[in-house]
Amino acid sequence: MEFAELKERVAKLKAEKNAVILAHYYTPFETQELADFVGDSLELSRLAAKTDADTIVFCGVDFMAESAKILSPEKTVLTPDPRANCPMANMLMPKELRRYKKEHPETIVVAYVNCSAEIKAEAYICCTSANAGKVVASLPKDKPVLFVPDRYLGTFTKNKVGREMEVWPGFCPTHQRFTIKAVQEMKAKHPEAELLVHPECPEEVSAAADFVGSTSAIIKRCAESPSEEFIIGTEQGVLKAIREKAPGKKVYPLLEGNVCPNMKLMTPHKVLWALEDNEYEIKVKEETRIKAKIALDRMLAL
Ligand code: SF4
Repeated sequence: MEFAELKERVAKLKAEKNAVILAHYYTPFETQELADFVGDSLELSRLAAKTDADTIVFCGVDFMAESAKILSPEKTVLTPDPRANCPMANMLMPKELRRYKKEHPETIVVAYVNCSAEIKAEAYICCTSANAGKVVASLPKDKPVLFVPDRYLGTFTKNKVGREMEVWPGFCPTHQRFTIKAVQEMKAKHPEAELLVHPECPEEVSAAADFVGSTSAIIKRCAESPSEEFIIGTEQGVLKAIREKAPGKKVYPLLEGNVCPNMKLMTPHKVLWALEDNEYEIKVKEETRIKAKIALDRMLAL
């Protein structure tokens, strides 16, 4: 089927079902074209909480669609491909966290939203890469803190805020691929370019960067900085949004072809099938949802 025809069918089904399509920046470009909103985790969580649509087709990995369901239980939340999960989110099991909490009852758990609903339900508060510093800075100073599951965002936040905390040793396989060698090579090729990286990158890569921020913050920086050239250390999908928001500026990926394979499972055909068949519906146990919502609401209230 031609993309134009697919787009038309998606639009018709969306209107019939009062559905909205939310897509993360890392999904395939054609999928982003079908979406009503394209954003990062925080932006999409806020949109999911506010939308008056009956159905949300969430083009992102599983924890994002789960967050939409947690915030909007009365809505039908569909994922176009249930296999799209996040390896980082799977690096911490709820049982492990429960055990940790039992052994450290005083500890406040901060959960990066890249985790399952069950982990969120065990956390005091959630954060995204856009607001991790603000979240950690808001915690009482006299309590120990555990940050889960991303070691790099946790360490970056710890240093930025100047707050001692324990950090779970999870990581994003896509961002972990960025190395200091790649930084040196790209800097040598483009000496005038600013290096902008995501805080999920290894520490030495973040330390070498001119700017470290969430996907949205990187896009904003490209649009607002007087620089004309940028090297981008995050999933390659973000380059589309940068080129749209900062036309005329030169952007180079820090590592060519570095993509999140899970996000790329969200193809346009699967979006159409999701709407046609009302599949695959995201379910979260009510008890888990209520507890996870408290942690998400604490973050959204900041
Ligand atoms: S880019 Fe990394 S953190 Fe984000 S969904 Fe993919 S694997 Fe998970």
